[in-house]
Amino acid sequence: MPRPRPETSAFRVRSVDAGRPEAETRGMVAVPGLRGAVGLAGRSVLNALLPPRCLSCGGLVSAPGSLCPGCWQGIEFLAPPHCGICGLPFAYDPGPEVFCGACLRRQPDFDRARAVLRYDDQSRGLVLGFKHGDRTEAAPAYAAWLERAGADLLAEAEMILPVPLHWRRLFTRRYNQAALLALALGCKTGLPYRPDLLLRRKHTPPQGRLSAAARKRNLQGAFAVDPRRRQEVEGRRLLLIDDVLTTGATLSACARVLRRAGAAQVDALVLARVVRPSAA
Ligand SMILES: [Zn+2]
Ligand SMILES: [Zn+2]
Repeated sequence: MPRPRPETSAFRVRSVDAGRPEAETRGMVAVPGLRGAVGLAGRSVLNALLPPRCLSCGGLVSAPGSLCPGCWQGIEFLAPPHCGICGLPFAYDPGPEVFCGACLRRQPDFDRARAVLRYDDQSRGLVLGFKHGDRTEAAPAYAAWLERAGADLLAEAEMILPVPLHWRRLFTRRYNQAALLALALGCKTGLPYRPDLLLRRKHTPPQGRLSAAARKRNLQGAFAVDPRRRQEVEGRRLLLIDDVLTTGATLSACARVLRRAGAAQVDALVLARVVRPSAA
């Protein structure tokens, strides 16, 4: 079977207006009444002081929470058709409930994963800016993207959980980017945000250059469900949030302990995912 080409997916998304910068802007300011007017006025003052910057390259843009035209062209938003489990984009629609080669070889421990955009040279600035560059003001815009890309998952989820950071990394990085995304998504959807259910017990070295097998070893025993909160996990449908899906090892490790604690369903929603030729 030829490798599914994700380019088609990007074209489809653009053609239906998803993720369009100006659409984001409309969504963010559509607050009716006095509160909306005050909010708009406040934002205008803020904009005058701090001109809005492109979420990816940092260039000036007309409205906060948007991309400049250059970045908009370059960033590939993912959409169906895709693998029914991990969300790997397919170039053509093979029909419902079709899975990619990687998922057929070994099914991940999460039920389904979906991503907003493809992690590549074009989107790296956006993802790393949010992770290390203190571009935390982007969280509401990313939550709107996550809400759209994960609509099916959100329809079934009862709680939203971020992939936790170990306290040592939290200390050096000052914030957990996955928690910021999960919190913003919780605020937007009204679903409970529960950063207290899952614990990171082990400080694992960065996984950037590790193979899939090494990542899995690296993560053994890294996560645990808070023993005082097991009852709150039992029988529940959970949605895990992270910034990037690379091999899926981190999300699988989290899903494994949540399932062991009795979770009925564990889906995952991320901002960006790596789309590897070999993954097909
Ligand atoms: Zn830009
Ligand atoms: Zn798959």
